[in-house]
Amino acid sequence: MLQIRRDLVDSIVAHARKDHPDEACGVIAGPEGTDRPERFIPMLNAARSSTFYEFDSLDLLKLYREMDARDEVPVVIYHSHTATEAYPSRTDIKLAQEPDAHYVLVSTRNPETAEFRSYRIVDGVVTEEDVEIVESYMFANTGSDDKPDS
Ligand SMILES: [Zn+2]
Repeated sequence: MLQIRRDLVDSIVAHARKDHPDEACGVIAGPEGTDRPERFIPMLNAARSSTFYEFDSLDLLKLYREMDARDEVPVVIYHSHTATEAYPSRTDIKLAQEPDAHYVLVSTRNPETAEFRSYRIVDGVVTEEDVEIVESYMFANTGSDDKPDS
C-alpha cells in the first residue's frame, strides 16, 4: 500500500496537467527505511513526448547523489499518461529498476478527473496496490528508537 499526503497527490496531478499533452515525470523522495514520500521533485521529460517519458540522465545522476547525501530514497516514481489509462506500458515495465519504489501513474486523458494509481514493478511483474491519501503523516515515527512504519 502507498500512503501519501494529499498535497503531494495534488502536486503530482498539477505537474501532469501543466505538461499535458506531453507526459510529466518526477520523484518523491523520503527518508531511507520509512516508505514515506516527503520531498516532491518534478523532473524534466527529456523525451518531451506524449507517449513516452525519460529522465534526463544528468538530472537523474544529480538527483541520486543528492538523495544519497540526505539519506533519502526514491519512495515514489511518478509519470503521466495523456491519452491512455493509468497503467504501466510495456516500456514502463521494461525500464522499471527500483523494486522498492511505488510507481505512480496519473492519467490526464479526462480534463475533469485525474486517475491516480500506484504499482510495484518487480522483475517485469506489475502489481497494483491500494493508495491511501492522508492529510498528514500523523503517526510518523521520528525518534531514533522507533521502527520504520510498515
Ligand atoms: Zn508510461
